[in-house]
Amino acid sequence: ATPTAIMVGTGLGAKRGVLFKNAIALETSARVQVVVMDKTGTLTRGEPEVTDVITEGVGEDELLRLVAAVERESEHPLAEAIVRHADARGLAGVRAGRFENVPGHGAVADVAGHRVAVGNRRLLERDGADLGALGAHRDEVAAGGRTAVMVAIDGVTVGVIGVADAPRETSAAAVAALHELGVEVVMLTGDNAATAERIARRLGIDTVIAEVLPGAKAAKVAELQATGRKVAMVGDGVNDAPALAQADLGIAIGAGTDVAIETADVVLMRSDPLDVPTALRIGRGTLRKMR
Ligand code: ADP
Ligand code: MG
Repeated sequence: ATPTAIMVGTGLGAKRGVLFKNAIALETSARVQVVVMDKTGTLTRGEPEVTDVITEGVGEDELLRLVAAVERESEHPLAEAIVRHADARGLAGVRAGRFENVPGHGAVADVAGHRVAVGNRRLLERDGADLGALGAHRDEVAAGGRTAVMVAIDGVTVGVIGVADAPRETSAAAVAALHELGVEVVMLTGDNAATAERIARRLGIDTVIAEVLPGAKAAKVAELQATGRKVAMVGDGVNDAPALAQADLGIAIGAGTDVAIETADVVLMRSDPLDVPTALRIGRGTLRKMR
């Protein structure tokens, strides 16, 4: 595009809080054919809340007290939600030792003489814990689009904590607008498949790539690029940064982490998913002006 068209496009973006970092970012926006969207914090608000506490063989308060002790040591958004919930119920106090963060799985620590594991099904299975009767509750929570956080004490599954993260108000409209532009939309998440698929269906997204380990998001973007299409990645988290860099166009949510914002080619200052189609439209408009 001509320097004038680029100035106009960049200015138009800035007015709407869509910051193109350079001319190439603006031009690439016009050519995007696939938009990959991170789920947590991008399509959803990233402010999860505890909705269910299901236990077996242990009281709810006792379970929450042990789990909160583990999660207090973690920086994961799910951990923060659980700690907030336990604090609101006045269940603070116990401290955890020998804390171990297991990326993409959960966390494990010693609390009150017990080894407490908190995380997804894979984490518990890794430690040889049978889901038992709680497996059915886990499936129910996931089928409702909530994340099921499983709890095992000394290798025995004793609880399921349901955590809900509401979609952003404009996520469905953003997906519809992208489809209108002829762009395919893909959801990419570390969360489990049932939860992810339920939310995707609600938002009108037809392709879901779930249970992706933190280090593997970039490889998934590369696989989509290998089909010969121009791919944009939209994300907010530290673990999205390599995927943002891998994509032809990295788009960061303004409310996201510094790493994501620094890595991206475009930053959405209003953290509004509807600004993704806006960015692509501005790019297309800019290219048209040079003909
Ligand atoms: P995402 O944030 O996209 O869900 P992560 O890779 O951070 O992806 O986590 C993948 C899954 O691992 C989470 O959905 C959750 O089930 C589990 N998990 C990770 N960390 C924790 C934690 N501290 N407490 C509970 N569950 C966790
Ligand atoms: Mg995220």
